[in-house]
Amino acid sequence: MTIDCSDETADIIVAGAGHNALIAAAYLARAGKSVLIVDARPIPGGGVATEEFLPGYFMDSCSTGHTIIQGNPVIKDDTLGLVGRHGLTYVDPDPVARVAFPDGEQIGMHLDPQATHAEFARFSNRDADRYLDFLADWDDARSAFNAANNTPIGWGPSLDQLLEQVPNGGVWRRRRALSAVDVIRHEFEEEHIQAFLLWEACQTFGSVDLPGSGVLPYTIMGGRQKRSWTIPLGGSGRLTNALVSEIERHGGRIECDTSVSRLLLDNGRCVGVESTDGRQFHARDAVLSTIHVKHLVDMAPREAWGDSFTYGVETYDIGIPLFAVFLVMNEIPTFRGLRPQDTAVSSGLATWPQDCVDMVRAIRDRRPVTDSAWTLVATPSLVDPSRAPAGMHTVKVLVPASHVAPYGATSWDDAKERHADAMVQYVSTAIPNVNSATIEARIVKGPLDIERANAHMINGCAHGGDKGVPFSGPLRPAPGWASHAMPIPGLYQTGGTTHPGGSITGAPGRNAAMVMMRDLGLDFPG
Ligand SMILES: Cc1cc2nc3c(=O)[nH]c(=O)nc-3n(C[C@H](O)[C@H](O)[C@H](O)COP(=O)(O)OP(=O)(O)OC[C@H]3O[C@@H](n4cnc5c(N)ncnc54)[C@H](O)[C@@H]3O)c2cc1C
Repeated sequence: MTIDCSDETADIIVAGAGHNALIAAAYLARAGKSVLIVDARPIPGGGVATEEFLPGYFMDSCSTGHTIIQGNPVIKDDTLGLVGRHGLTYVDPDPVARVAFPDGEQIGMHLDPQATHAEFARFSNRDADRYLDFLADWDDARSAFNAANNTPIGWGPSLDQLLEQVPNGGVWRRRRALSAVDVIRHEFEEEHIQAFLLWEACQTFGSVDLPGSGVLPYTIMGGRQKRSWTIPLGGSGRLTNALVSEIERHGGRIECDTSVSRLLLDNGRCVGVESTDGRQFHARDAVLSTIHVKHLVDMAPREAWGDSFTYGVETYDIGIPLFAVFLVMNEIPTFRGLRPQDTAVSSGLATWPQDCVDMVRAIRDRRPVTDSAWTLVATPSLVDPSRAPAGMHTVKVLVPASHVAPYGATSWDDAKERHADAMVQYVSTAIPNVNSATIEARIVKGPLDIERANAHMINGCAHGGDKGVPFSGPLRPAPGWASHAMPIPGLYQTGGTTHPGGSITGAPGRNAAMVMMRDLGLDFPG
Protein backbone atom coordinates (compact mmCIF):
# COMPACT_ATOMS: atom_id res chain seq x y z
CA MET A 1 0.00 0.00 0.00
CA THR A 2 1.33 3.48 -0.82
CA ILE A 3 1.05 6.18 1.76
CA ASP A 4 -0.03 9.60 0.54
CA CYS A 5 2.22 12.11 2.27
CA SER A 6 -0.61 14.61 2.53
CA ASP A 7 -2.39 12.16 4.77
CA GLU A 8 -2.32 12.33 8.54
CA THR A 9 0.10 9.95 10.21
CA ALA A 10 0.69 9.18 13.90
CA ASP A 11 1.97 6.27 15.97
CA ILE A 12 -1.56 5.58 17.17
CA ILE A 13 -4.77 6.44 15.33
CA VAL A 14 -7.81 6.43 17.62
CA ALA A 15 -11.23 6.12 15.97
CA GLY A 16 -13.84 7.63 18.30
CA ALA A 17 -13.24 10.02 21.21
CA GLY A 18 -15.46 8.56 23.94
CA HIS A 19 -14.06 8.76 27.47
CA ASN A 20 -12.64 5.23 27.23
CA ALA A 21 -10.73 5.97 24.04
CA LEU A 22 -9.50 9.25 25.54
CA ILE A 23 -8.24 7.46 28.66
CA ALA A 24 -6.34 4.93 26.51
CA ALA A 25 -5.01 7.76 24.32
CA ALA A 26 -3.85 9.70 27.38
CA TYR A 27 -1.85 6.71 28.68
CA LEU A 28 -0.27 6.19 25.25
CA ALA A 29 0.53 9.89 24.79
CA ARG A 30 2.12 10.05 28.23
CA ALA A 31 4.26 7.05 27.26
CA GLY A 32 5.65 9.04 24.32
CA LYS A 33 3.48 7.84 21.47
CA SER A 34 2.13 10.36 18.98
CA VAL A 35 -1.65 10.08 19.06
CA LEU A 36 -4.25 11.33 16.60
CA ILE A 37 -7.91 10.90 17.54
CA VAL A 38 -10.77 11.29 15.05
CA ASP A 39 -14.41 11.54 16.04
CA ALA A 40 -17.63 11.96 14.10
CA ARG A 41 -19.11 14.42 16.59
CA PRO A 42 -18.38 18.17 16.58
CA ILE A 43 -17.02 17.81 20.14
CA PRO A 44 -15.02 15.03 21.83
CA GLY A 45 -16.20 12.89 24.74
CA GLY A 46 -19.09 10.91 23.24
CA GLY A 47 -21.49 10.34 26.14
CA VAL A 48 -19.34 12.47 28.45
CA ALA A 49 -20.35 15.90 27.21
CA THR A 50 -21.96 19.03 28.59
CA GLU A 51 -23.66 21.13 25.94
CA GLU A 52 -25.20 24.60 26.12
CA PHE A 53 -28.53 23.47 24.67
CA LEU A 54 -29.98 26.93 25.50
CA PRO A 55 -27.99 30.08 26.34
CA GLY A 56 -26.86 29.86 29.97
CA TYR A 57 -28.06 26.26 30.44
CA PHE A 58 -25.37 23.58 30.49
CA MET A 59 -26.94 20.16 30.05
CA ASP A 60 -25.26 16.77 30.15
CA SER A 61 -26.43 15.47 26.79
CA CYS A 62 -25.79 11.89 28.01
CA SER A 63 -24.15 10.88 31.29
CA THR A 64 -24.42 12.86 34.52
CA GLY A 65 -23.49 10.35 37.24
CA HIS A 66 -19.84 9.25 37.41
CA THR A 67 -20.00 6.93 40.43
CA ILE A 68 -18.47 3.78 38.96
CA ILE A 69 -15.32 5.48 37.63
CA GLN A 70 -14.49 6.58 41.20
CA GLY A 71 -13.11 3.05 41.79
CA ASN A 72 -10.88 3.22 38.69
CA PRO A 73 -7.23 4.13 39.44
CA VAL A 74 -7.60 6.92 36.85
CA ILE A 75 -9.71 8.78 39.44
CA LYS A 76 -8.98 6.90 42.67
CA ASP A 77 -5.20 7.34 42.33
CA ASP A 78 -5.37 10.22 39.81
CA THR A 79 -2.98 8.32 37.53
CA LEU A 80 -3.47 10.77 34.64
CA GLY A 81 -3.44 13.95 36.73
CA LEU A 82 -7.05 14.75 35.83
CA VAL A 83 -7.85 15.90 39.35
CA GLY A 84 -4.51 17.29 40.53
CA ARG A 85 -3.32 18.93 37.30
CA HIS A 86 -6.49 19.58 35.31
CA GLY A 87 -8.89 20.55 38.08
CA LEU A 88 -11.52 17.82 37.67
CA THR A 89 -13.70 18.07 40.78
CA TYR A 90 -16.42 15.69 41.92
CA VAL A 91 -19.27 16.26 44.35
CA ASP A 92 -21.18 13.59 46.27
CA PRO A 93 -24.78 14.84 46.65
CA ASP A 94 -26.70 14.07 49.85
CA PRO A 95 -29.56 13.03 49.82
CA VAL A 96 -28.39 10.28 47.49
CA ALA A 97 -31.77 9.41 45.96
CA ARG A 98 -35.52 9.86 46.32
CA VAL A 99 -37.97 7.52 44.66
CA ALA A 100 -41.79 7.54 44.53
CA PHE A 101 -43.91 4.40 44.14
CA PRO A 102 -47.29 3.83 42.44
CA ASP A 103 -49.18 3.97 45.76
CA GLY A 104 -47.80 7.42 46.60
CA GLU A 105 -45.21 6.19 49.11
CA GLN A 106 -41.59 7.33 48.78
CA ILE A 107 -38.15 6.29 49.97
CA GLY A 108 -35.25 8.68 50.48
CA MET A 109 -31.65 7.43 50.54
CA HIS A 110 -28.91 9.25 52.42
CA LEU A 111 -25.13 9.02 52.64
CA ASP A 112 -25.45 7.99 56.29
CA PRO A 113 -26.39 4.28 56.07
CA GLN A 114 -28.32 4.60 59.34
CA ALA A 115 -30.53 7.27 57.76
CA THR A 116 -31.23 4.93 54.81
CA HIS A 117 -31.87 2.15 57.34
CA ALA A 118 -34.43 4.38 59.09
CA GLU A 119 -36.23 5.02 55.78
CA PHE A 120 -36.36 1.28 55.01
CA ALA A 121 -37.54 0.57 58.57
CA ARG A 122 -40.71 2.59 57.86
CA PHE A 123 -41.65 -0.35 55.63
CA SER A 124 -39.90 -3.33 57.23
CA ASN A 125 -37.55 -3.59 60.19
CA ARG A 126 -36.38 -6.96 58.95
CA ASP A 127 -35.44 -5.59 55.51
CA ALA A 128 -33.81 -2.50 57.00
CA ASP A 129 -31.50 -4.74 59.06
CA ARG A 130 -30.95 -6.98 56.02
CA TYR A 131 -29.85 -3.87 54.11
CA LEU A 132 -26.94 -3.29 56.50
CA ASP A 133 -25.93 -6.96 56.14
CA PHE A 134 -26.25 -6.59 52.36
CA LEU A 135 -23.79 -3.66 52.42
CA ALA A 136 -21.40 -5.58 54.70
CA ASP A 137 -21.55 -8.58 52.34
CA TRP A 138 -20.63 -6.31 49.45
CA ASP A 139 -17.68 -4.89 51.40
CA ASP A 140 -16.24 -8.42 51.44
CA ALA A 141 -16.58 -8.90 47.69
CA ARG A 142 -16.16 -5.37 46.33
CA SER A 143 -12.41 -5.55 45.75
CA ALA A 144 -12.67 -8.82 43.77
CA PHE A 145 -15.23 -7.34 41.38
CA ASN A 146 -13.35 -4.04 41.15
CA ALA A 147 -10.10 -5.88 40.35
CA ALA A 148 -11.81 -7.98 37.68
CA ASN A 149 -13.37 -4.92 36.04
CA ASN A 150 -10.14 -2.98 36.01
CA THR A 151 -8.00 -5.79 34.57
CA PRO A 152 -8.01 -6.98 30.95
CA ILE A 153 -9.65 -10.36 30.38
CA GLY A 154 -7.03 -13.11 30.47
CA TRP A 155 -4.67 -11.14 32.70
CA GLY A 156 -4.34 -12.50 36.21
CA PRO A 157 -6.91 -14.66 37.97
CA SER A 158 -10.45 -14.88 36.63
CA LEU A 159 -13.31 -13.39 38.61
CA ASP A 160 -14.32 -16.89 39.75
CA GLN A 161 -10.78 -17.47 41.04
CA LEU A 162 -10.80 -14.08 42.81
CA LEU A 163 -14.13 -14.96 44.41
CA GLU A 164 -12.64 -18.14 45.84
CA GLN A 165 -10.56 -15.84 48.08
CA VAL A 166 -13.51 -13.89 49.53
CA PRO A 167 -15.78 -15.04 52.36
CA ASN A 168 -18.77 -16.91 50.91
CA GLY A 169 -17.15 -17.04 47.48
CA GLY A 170 -19.59 -19.73 46.37
CA VAL A 171 -22.52 -17.49 47.26
CA TRP A 172 -21.07 -14.72 45.12
CA ARG A 173 -20.53 -17.08 42.20
CA ARG A 174 -24.20 -18.04 42.37
CA ARG A 175 -25.28 -14.37 42.71
CA ARG A 176 -23.32 -13.51 39.58
CA ALA A 177 -25.31 -16.09 37.66
CA LEU A 178 -28.71 -15.01 39.00
CA SER A 179 -30.74 -12.03 37.81
CA ALA A 180 -30.94 -8.75 39.74
CA VAL A 181 -34.62 -9.32 40.43
CA ASP A 182 -33.92 -12.86 41.73
CA VAL A 183 -31.28 -11.53 44.11
CA ILE A 184 -33.47 -8.68 45.39
CA ARG A 185 -36.45 -10.97 45.94
CA HIS A 186 -34.25 -13.43 47.81
CA GLU A 187 -32.71 -10.83 50.13
CA PHE A 188 -35.71 -8.54 50.75
CA GLU A 189 -39.40 -9.25 51.28
CA GLU A 190 -41.13 -5.86 51.39
CA GLU A 191 -42.27 -4.63 47.99
CA HIS A 192 -41.37 -0.91 48.32
CA ILE A 193 -37.86 -1.86 49.35
CA GLN A 194 -37.61 -4.40 46.54
CA ALA A 195 -38.85 -1.76 44.09
CA PHE A 196 -36.39 0.83 45.39
CA LEU A 197 -33.42 -1.53 45.05
CA LEU A 198 -34.54 -2.59 41.58
CA TRP A 199 -34.86 1.08 40.58
CA GLU A 200 -31.23 1.54 41.59
CA ALA A 201 -30.19 -1.68 39.82
CA CYS A 202 -31.79 -0.38 36.59
CA GLN A 203 -29.48 2.65 36.46
CA THR A 204 -27.17 1.05 33.90
CA PHE A 205 -30.06 -0.06 31.67
CA GLY A 206 -29.25 -3.76 31.94
CA SER A 207 -31.77 -6.56 31.58
CA VAL A 208 -32.42 -6.91 35.31
CA ASP A 209 -34.49 -10.06 34.73
CA LEU A 210 -31.68 -11.97 33.01
CA PRO A 211 -28.98 -14.26 34.46
CA GLY A 212 -25.76 -12.31 34.86
CA SER A 213 -27.33 -9.14 36.30
CA GLY A 214 -27.41 -10.51 39.87
CA VAL A 215 -24.53 -8.44 41.21
CA LEU A 216 -25.95 -5.13 39.93
CA PRO A 217 -27.95 -4.37 43.12
CA TYR A 218 -24.73 -4.71 45.12
CA THR A 219 -22.47 -2.73 42.80
CA ILE A 220 -24.93 0.13 42.42
CA MET A 221 -26.09 0.32 46.05
CA GLY A 222 -22.54 -0.19 47.36
CA GLY A 223 -21.28 2.73 45.26
CA ARG A 224 -24.24 4.97 46.04
CA GLN A 225 -24.17 4.27 49.77
CA LYS A 226 -20.41 4.87 49.89
CA ARG A 227 -20.32 8.13 47.96
CA SER A 228 -23.65 8.93 46.30
CA TRP A 229 -24.42 9.57 42.61
CA THR A 230 -21.15 11.38 42.13
CA ILE A 231 -21.19 14.18 39.55
CA PRO A 232 -18.45 16.40 38.13
CA LEU A 233 -18.68 20.08 39.06
CA GLY A 234 -19.35 22.07 35.90
CA GLY A 235 -20.89 19.11 34.08
CA SER A 236 -20.04 15.69 32.74
CA GLY A 237 -17.90 17.26 30.01
CA ARG A 238 -15.35 18.36 32.60
CA LEU A 239 -13.98 14.79 32.54
CA THR A 240 -13.56 15.05 28.78
CA ASN A 241 -11.96 18.50 29.07
CA ALA A 242 -9.43 17.15 31.57
CA LEU A 243 -8.60 14.14 29.36
CA VAL A 244 -8.21 16.32 26.25
CA SER A 245 -5.92 18.72 28.16
CA GLU A 246 -3.75 15.82 29.27
CA ILE A 247 -3.57 14.37 25.75
CA GLU A 248 -2.71 17.75 24.23
CA ARG A 249 -0.10 18.37 26.93
CA HIS A 250 1.70 15.34 25.50
CA GLY A 251 1.33 16.42 21.88
CA GLY A 252 -1.79 14.42 20.99
CA ARG A 253 -4.43 15.84 18.63
CA ILE A 254 -8.15 15.44 18.13
CA GLU A 255 -10.01 15.95 14.83
CA CYS A 256 -13.76 16.26 15.23
CA ASP A 257 -16.47 16.12 12.53
CA THR A 258 -14.60 13.16 11.07
CA SER A 259 -16.59 9.97 10.68
CA VAL A 260 -14.66 6.76 10.02
CA SER A 261 -16.13 4.54 7.31
CA ARG A 262 -13.33 2.08 6.50
CA LEU A 263 -10.32 0.38 8.02
CA LEU A 264 -7.13 0.51 5.96
CA LEU A 265 -5.51 -2.91 5.66
CA ASP A 266 -2.06 -3.72 4.35
CA ASN A 267 -1.12 -7.41 4.05
CA GLY A 268 -3.89 -8.26 6.48
CA ARG A 269 -2.77 -5.70 9.06
CA CYS A 270 -4.76 -2.63 10.09
CA VAL A 271 -2.63 0.41 9.28
CA GLY A 272 -5.16 3.20 9.56
CA VAL A 273 -8.68 4.43 8.91
CA GLU A 274 -10.49 6.32 6.17
CA SER A 275 -13.23 8.87 6.85
CA THR A 276 -16.44 9.45 4.91
CA ASP A 277 -14.86 12.48 3.19
CA GLY A 278 -12.07 10.27 1.80
CA ARG A 279 -9.30 11.38 4.16
CA GLN A 280 -6.89 8.73 5.32
CA PHE A 281 -5.25 8.52 8.73
CA HIS A 282 -2.23 6.22 8.94
CA ALA A 283 -0.93 4.51 12.06
CA ARG A 284 2.72 3.59 12.46
CA ASP A 285 2.01 1.26 15.39
CA ALA A 286 -1.68 0.54 15.90
CA VAL A 287 -5.29 1.62 15.48
CA LEU A 288 -7.58 1.83 18.51
CA SER A 289 -11.33 1.82 17.80
CA THR A 290 -14.35 2.72 19.87
CA ILE A 291 -16.67 2.27 16.89
CA HIS A 292 -19.55 -0.06 17.74
CA VAL A 293 -18.58 -3.62 16.81
CA LYS A 294 -21.80 -3.92 14.76
CA HIS A 295 -20.42 -1.13 12.52
CA LEU A 296 -16.77 -2.11 12.77
CA VAL A 297 -17.32 -5.49 11.09
CA ASP A 298 -18.61 -3.70 7.99
CA MET A 299 -15.44 -1.61 7.73
CA ALA A 300 -13.21 -4.48 6.53
CA PRO A 301 -13.82 -7.55 4.39
CA ARG A 302 -15.67 -10.35 6.21
CA GLU A 303 -12.80 -12.80 5.74
CA ALA A 304 -10.47 -10.47 7.66
CA TRP A 305 -12.49 -11.04 10.84
CA GLY A 306 -12.99 -14.80 10.74
CA ASP A 307 -16.22 -16.70 11.34
CA SER A 308 -15.99 -16.86 15.13
CA PHE A 309 -15.75 -13.08 15.51
CA THR A 310 -18.49 -12.30 12.98
CA TYR A 311 -20.80 -14.85 14.64
CA GLY A 312 -20.10 -13.18 18.00
CA VAL A 313 -20.97 -9.76 16.58
CA GLU A 314 -24.07 -10.96 14.73
CA THR A 315 -25.49 -12.50 17.90
CA TYR A 316 -24.45 -9.55 20.10
CA ASP A 317 -27.41 -7.84 21.82
CA ILE A 318 -27.16 -4.04 21.49
CA GLY A 319 -29.12 -3.50 24.72
CA ILE A 320 -31.97 -1.26 25.83
CA PRO A 321 -32.67 2.11 24.14
CA LEU A 322 -32.94 5.37 26.10
CA PHE A 323 -35.37 8.25 25.80
CA ALA A 324 -34.48 11.63 27.33
CA VAL A 325 -36.43 14.82 27.99
CA PHE A 326 -34.37 17.85 29.04
CA LEU A 327 -36.29 20.50 30.96
CA VAL A 328 -35.47 24.04 32.01
CA MET A 329 -37.46 24.68 35.21
CA ASN A 330 -37.97 27.82 37.27
CA GLU A 331 -38.48 25.75 40.44
CA ILE A 332 -36.84 22.72 42.03
CA PRO A 333 -38.87 19.64 41.10
CA THR A 334 -40.50 18.90 44.45
CA PHE A 335 -42.07 15.60 45.51
CA ARG A 336 -45.64 15.59 46.75
CA GLY A 337 -45.74 16.39 50.47
CA LEU A 338 -42.01 17.20 50.70
CA ARG A 339 -39.77 20.26 50.68
CA PRO A 340 -37.60 21.28 47.71
CA GLN A 341 -34.46 20.39 49.67
CA ASP A 342 -35.67 16.78 49.97
CA THR A 343 -35.28 16.28 46.21
CA ALA A 344 -32.13 14.37 45.35
CA VAL A 345 -30.04 15.04 42.25
CA SER A 346 -30.87 11.42 41.41
CA SER A 347 -34.61 11.13 41.93
CA GLY A 348 -37.35 9.26 40.14
CA LEU A 349 -40.36 7.02 39.99
CA ALA A 350 -40.38 3.25 40.37
CA THR A 351 -43.06 0.70 39.68
CA TRP A 352 -43.34 -2.74 41.27
CA PRO A 353 -40.65 -5.30 40.43
CA GLN A 354 -42.89 -7.40 38.20
CA ASP A 355 -43.70 -4.33 36.04
CA CYS A 356 -39.99 -3.77 35.59
CA VAL A 357 -39.44 -7.40 34.58
CA ASP A 358 -42.32 -7.17 32.10
CA MET A 359 -40.99 -3.92 30.63
CA VAL A 360 -37.45 -5.14 29.91
CA ARG A 361 -38.85 -8.38 28.48
CA ALA A 362 -41.16 -6.39 26.15
CA ILE A 363 -38.25 -4.21 25.04
CA ARG A 364 -36.11 -7.26 24.26
CA ASP A 365 -39.03 -8.78 22.35
CA ARG A 366 -39.21 -5.62 20.19
CA ARG A 367 -42.72 -4.81 21.39
CA PRO A 368 -43.78 -1.13 21.73
CA VAL A 369 -43.75 0.22 25.30
CA THR A 370 -45.65 3.34 26.35
CA ASP A 371 -45.43 3.22 30.17
CA SER A 372 -42.13 3.43 31.96
CA ALA A 373 -41.41 1.11 34.86
CA TRP A 374 -38.22 3.08 35.59
CA THR A 375 -37.93 6.84 35.48
CA LEU A 376 -34.99 9.02 36.46
CA VAL A 377 -35.48 12.70 37.24
CA ALA A 378 -31.97 14.14 37.47
CA THR A 379 -31.42 17.72 38.65
CA PRO A 380 -27.67 18.38 38.82
CA SER A 381 -28.21 22.16 39.23
CA LEU A 382 -29.35 21.36 42.80
CA VAL A 383 -25.71 21.00 43.84
CA ASP A 384 -23.99 22.74 40.93
CA PRO A 385 -25.30 26.27 40.30
CA SER A 386 -22.87 26.72 37.37
CA ARG A 387 -25.26 24.74 35.17
CA ALA A 388 -28.10 27.29 35.07
CA PRO A 389 -28.82 30.98 35.78
CA ALA A 390 -29.65 31.80 39.41
CA GLY A 391 -32.93 30.29 40.57
CA MET A 392 -33.28 28.10 37.48
CA HIS A 393 -32.75 24.35 37.12
CA THR A 394 -31.69 21.84 34.50
CA VAL A 395 -33.67 18.61 34.74
CA LYS A 396 -33.18 15.42 32.75
CA VAL A 397 -36.01 12.89 32.62
CA LEU A 398 -34.67 9.55 31.44
CA VAL A 399 -36.61 6.37 30.69
CA PRO A 400 -35.95 3.08 28.89
CA ALA A 401 -37.61 2.99 25.47
CA SER A 402 -38.76 0.27 23.14
CA HIS A 403 -36.79 -0.50 20.00
CA VAL A 404 -39.95 0.04 17.96
CA ALA A 405 -41.95 3.26 18.09
CA PRO A 406 -45.06 3.20 20.31
CA TYR A 407 -48.55 4.66 19.63
CA GLY A 408 -48.71 2.98 16.22
CA ALA A 409 -46.12 5.39 14.79
CA THR A 410 -43.79 4.11 12.10
CA SER A 411 -40.77 5.98 13.49
CA TRP A 412 -39.65 7.20 16.90
CA ASP A 413 -39.32 10.65 15.29
CA ASP A 414 -43.10 10.71 14.89
CA ALA A 415 -43.77 9.38 18.41
CA LYS A 416 -41.24 11.29 20.50
CA GLU A 417 -43.16 14.50 21.32
CA ARG A 418 -46.23 12.50 22.35
CA HIS A 419 -44.06 10.22 24.45
CA ALA A 420 -42.37 13.22 26.07
CA ASP A 421 -45.81 14.64 26.95
CA ALA A 422 -46.73 11.28 28.50
CA MET A 423 -43.47 11.05 30.47
CA VAL A 424 -43.77 14.61 31.83
CA GLN A 425 -47.40 13.96 32.79
CA TYR A 426 -46.34 10.73 34.52
CA VAL A 427 -43.55 12.49 36.44
CA SER A 428 -46.06 15.11 37.62
CA THR A 429 -48.08 12.40 39.40
CA ALA A 430 -45.29 12.21 41.99
CA ILE A 431 -43.65 15.60 41.46
CA PRO A 432 -46.63 17.90 40.89
CA ASN A 433 -44.70 21.09 40.18
CA VAL A 434 -43.31 19.57 36.96
CA ASN A 435 -45.92 21.32 34.84
CA SER A 436 -46.43 23.97 32.18
CA ALA A 437 -46.08 26.81 34.70
CA THR A 438 -42.60 25.76 35.80
CA ILE A 439 -41.21 24.26 32.58
CA GLU A 440 -39.71 27.11 30.58
CA ALA A 441 -38.16 24.99 27.83
CA ARG A 442 -38.12 21.36 26.75
CA ILE A 443 -35.77 19.43 24.47
CA VAL A 444 -36.67 15.86 23.53
CA LYS A 445 -34.10 13.24 22.50
CA GLY A 446 -35.66 10.03 21.24
CA PRO A 447 -33.65 6.87 20.48
CA LEU A 448 -33.00 8.01 16.90
CA ASP A 449 -31.75 11.43 18.05
CA ILE A 450 -29.38 9.75 20.48
CA GLU A 451 -28.02 7.53 17.70
CA ARG A 452 -27.72 10.46 15.27
CA ALA A 453 -25.63 12.31 17.86
CA ASN A 454 -23.41 9.27 18.49
CA ALA A 455 -23.19 6.28 16.14
CA HIS A 456 -21.83 4.20 19.03
CA MET A 457 -25.34 4.36 20.59
CA ILE A 458 -27.26 2.27 18.05
CA ASN A 459 -31.01 2.90 18.28
CA GLY A 460 -30.35 4.90 21.44
CA CYS A 461 -28.67 1.97 23.25
CA ALA A 462 -26.00 3.85 25.15
CA HIS A 463 -24.27 1.14 27.14
CA GLY A 464 -22.39 -0.70 24.42
CA GLY A 465 -24.63 -3.77 24.58
CA ASP A 466 -26.42 -5.98 27.08
CA LYS A 467 -24.32 -7.39 29.93
CA GLY A 468 -26.03 -10.75 30.35
CA VAL A 469 -24.01 -13.95 30.50
CA PRO A 470 -23.57 -14.31 26.68
CA PHE A 471 -22.06 -10.82 26.41
CA SER A 472 -19.89 -10.50 29.50
CA GLY A 473 -16.32 -11.17 30.58
CA PRO A 474 -14.50 -13.44 28.10
CA LEU A 475 -17.51 -13.35 25.77
CA ARG A 476 -17.53 -9.56 25.20
CA PRO A 477 -17.75 -8.54 22.40
CA ALA A 478 -17.09 -12.02 20.96
CA PRO A 479 -15.72 -15.25 22.44
CA GLY A 480 -11.97 -15.39 21.97
CA TRP A 481 -11.68 -11.64 21.33
CA ALA A 482 -12.29 -10.13 24.74
CA SER A 483 -8.78 -8.78 25.39
CA HIS A 484 -9.02 -5.66 23.19
CA ALA A 485 -6.78 -7.08 20.44
CA MET A 486 -9.07 -7.70 17.45
CA PRO A 487 -8.78 -10.50 14.86
CA ILE A 488 -7.12 -8.04 12.46
CA PRO A 489 -3.51 -7.52 13.62
CA GLY A 490 -2.77 -3.90 14.52
CA LEU A 491 -6.40 -3.20 15.48
CA TYR A 492 -7.55 -2.81 19.09
CA GLN A 493 -11.02 -2.16 20.45
CA THR A 494 -12.17 -0.24 23.54
CA GLY A 495 -15.41 1.39 24.74
CA GLY A 496 -18.67 -0.05 25.95
CA THR A 497 -18.60 -3.05 23.60
CA THR A 498 -15.57 -4.38 25.49
CA HIS A 499 -15.11 -5.66 29.06
CA PRO A 500 -16.56 -4.60 31.46
CA GLY A 501 -19.08 -2.70 29.29
CA GLY A 502 -20.76 0.70 29.13
CA SER A 503 -21.41 3.52 31.62
CA ILE A 504 -18.77 5.93 32.84
CA THR A 505 -16.27 3.47 34.28
CA GLY A 506 -13.14 4.23 32.27
CA ALA A 507 -12.29 0.55 32.69
CA PRO A 508 -12.41 -0.49 29.01
CA GLY A 509 -10.11 2.46 28.22
CA ARG A 510 -7.51 1.74 30.88
CA ASN A 511 -7.63 -2.00 30.18
CA ALA A 512 -7.10 -1.41 26.45
CA ALA A 513 -4.12 0.84 27.25
CA MET A 514 -2.59 -1.96 29.35
CA VAL A 515 -2.87 -4.44 26.47
CA MET A 516 -1.60 -2.03 23.81
CA MET A 517 1.32 -0.86 25.91
CA ARG A 518 2.38 -4.42 26.63
CA ASP A 519 2.23 -5.23 22.90
CA LEU A 520 4.20 -2.08 22.08
CA GLY A 521 6.88 -2.89 24.66
CA LEU A 522 5.95 -0.01 26.95
CA ASP A 523 5.67 -0.10 30.75
CA PHE A 524 2.18 0.54 32.06
CA PRO A 525 2.45 3.04 34.91
CA GLY A 526 -0.72 2.13 36.82
C1 LIG B 1 -29.22 10.26 27.86
C2 LIG B 1 -28.12 9.41 28.42
C3 LIG B 1 -27.85 9.44 29.79
C4 LIG B 1 -26.82 8.65 30.32
N1 LIG B 1 -26.53 8.77 31.64
C5 LIG B 1 -25.48 8.09 32.17
C6 LIG B 1 -25.07 8.33 33.51
O1 LIG B 1 -25.60 9.19 34.21
N2 LIG B 1 -24.02 7.60 33.98
C7 LIG B 1 -23.36 6.68 33.21
O2 LIG B 1 -22.43 6.03 33.71
N3 LIG B 1 -23.69 6.48 31.92
C8 LIG B 1 -24.72 7.17 31.38
N4 LIG B 1 -25.05 7.02 30.05
C9 LIG B 1 -24.30 6.03 29.26
C10 LIG B 1 -22.91 6.54 28.87
O3 LIG B 1 -23.01 7.81 28.26
C11 LIG B 1 -22.21 5.57 27.92
O4 LIG B 1 -22.28 4.24 28.40
C12 LIG B 1 -20.74 5.95 27.75
O5 LIG B 1 -20.66 7.26 27.21
C13 LIG B 1 -19.98 4.99 26.86
O6 LIG B 1 -18.66 5.46 26.74
P1 LIG B 1 -17.69 4.95 25.59
O7 LIG B 1 -16.33 5.44 25.92
O8 LIG B 1 -17.87 3.50 25.43
O9 LIG B 1 -18.18 5.60 24.24
P2 LIG B 1 -19.14 6.78 23.82
O10 LIG B 1 -19.31 7.75 24.91
O11 LIG B 1 -20.37 6.18 23.25
O12 LIG B 1 -18.30 7.48 22.66
C14 LIG B 1 -18.07 6.84 21.43
C15 LIG B 1 -17.49 7.88 20.48
O13 LIG B 1 -17.16 7.21 19.27
C16 LIG B 1 -17.55 8.06 18.20
N5 LIG B 1 -17.79 7.26 17.01
C17 LIG B 1 -18.63 6.22 16.87
N6 LIG B 1 -18.57 5.73 15.61
C18 LIG B 1 -17.68 6.51 14.95
C19 LIG B 1 -17.19 6.53 13.62
N7 LIG B 1 -17.61 5.65 12.70
N8 LIG B 1 -16.27 7.46 13.29
C20 LIG B 1 -15.81 8.36 14.20
N9 LIG B 1 -16.25 8.40 15.46
C21 LIG B 1 -17.18 7.48 15.84
C22 LIG B 1 -18.79 8.77 18.69
O14 LIG B 1 -19.02 9.98 17.96
C23 LIG B 1 -18.47 8.99 20.15
O15 LIG B 1 -17.85 10.24 20.36
C24 LIG B 1 -26.06 7.80 29.48
C25 LIG B 1 -26.33 7.76 28.11
C26 LIG B 1 -27.34 8.57 27.58
C27 LIG B 1 -27.60 8.55 26.09
